Amino acid sequence: MPAARTAPRSRSRSAPHEESALARTRRARRMYRILRDYYPYAHCELDFETPLQLLVATVLSAQTTDVTVNKVTPTLFARYPTAEALAGADREAMEALLKPTGFFRAKTNSVINLAAALVERYDGEVPPRMKDLVTLPGVGRKTANVVLGNAFGIPGITVDTHFGRLVRRFGWTEETDPVKVEQIVGALIPRKEWTMLSHVLIFHGRRICHARRPACGACPVADLCPSYGEGETDPVKARKLLKFELSSGGS
Ligand code: SF4
Repeated sequence: MPAARTAPRSRSRSAPHEESALARTRRARRMYRILRDYYPYAHCELDFETPLQLLVATVLSAQTTDVTVNKVTPTLFARYPTAEALAGADREAMEALLKPTGFFRAKTNSVINLAAALVERYDGEVPPRMKDLVTLPGVGRKTANVVLGNAFGIPGITVDTHFGRLVRRFGWTEETDPVKVEQIVGALIPRKEWTMLSHVLIFHGRRICHARRPACGACPVADLCPSYGEGETDPVKARKLLKFELSSGGS
């Protein structure tokens, strides 16, 4: 686990609403650089070998952890290795496989319908374009950006629950609409960094800046965060809140 920077001694910086656009951009980039150095190994925590596998795994990751998805996908993809096979799967057999991920009937429907649309419209291949991906059943911008960024190397910002919470705590934006968050953050951070930015913020949200009790006293960007103090500031107590050993995908 990397060492946390020491907690800030003073809180003299401007509140985010008083900050100029230039100052906010500079602060955002500094925060990103610190977090990127802190989590140099940040990556997509879903296991996959092909764009199709990542697309399906991302759909399955709704309301569950990446670890749980990674437990079911090897069997799923061994049994149904192509979009054609997934589209023609026996519903009950797939439901049994997907049961550990929760909402397994709805997820079985989603996977079969998604695979059928890929077969019908894209010869069973995952299209590498946002405008095509979002026309597929059950695929929104978040899922599309995961696939574009990680399977195709096309920079994308993945606004999931962690990402949205963190950028609001960071004072990068007050927006709650994921599309607006994507646009605003995309203007703060260079495009080539978008995929890594998504990983780094999701890692930070899972490990330190938790939804309920952020570990502010052990946070590497505490000096630059207007929400410092929202969580535990005592360094010893804060360190006990860290979840570095887990790669659970939960918060
Ligand atoms: S809220 Fe606390 S843990 Fe989260 S980024 Fe700010 S200082 Fe760090």
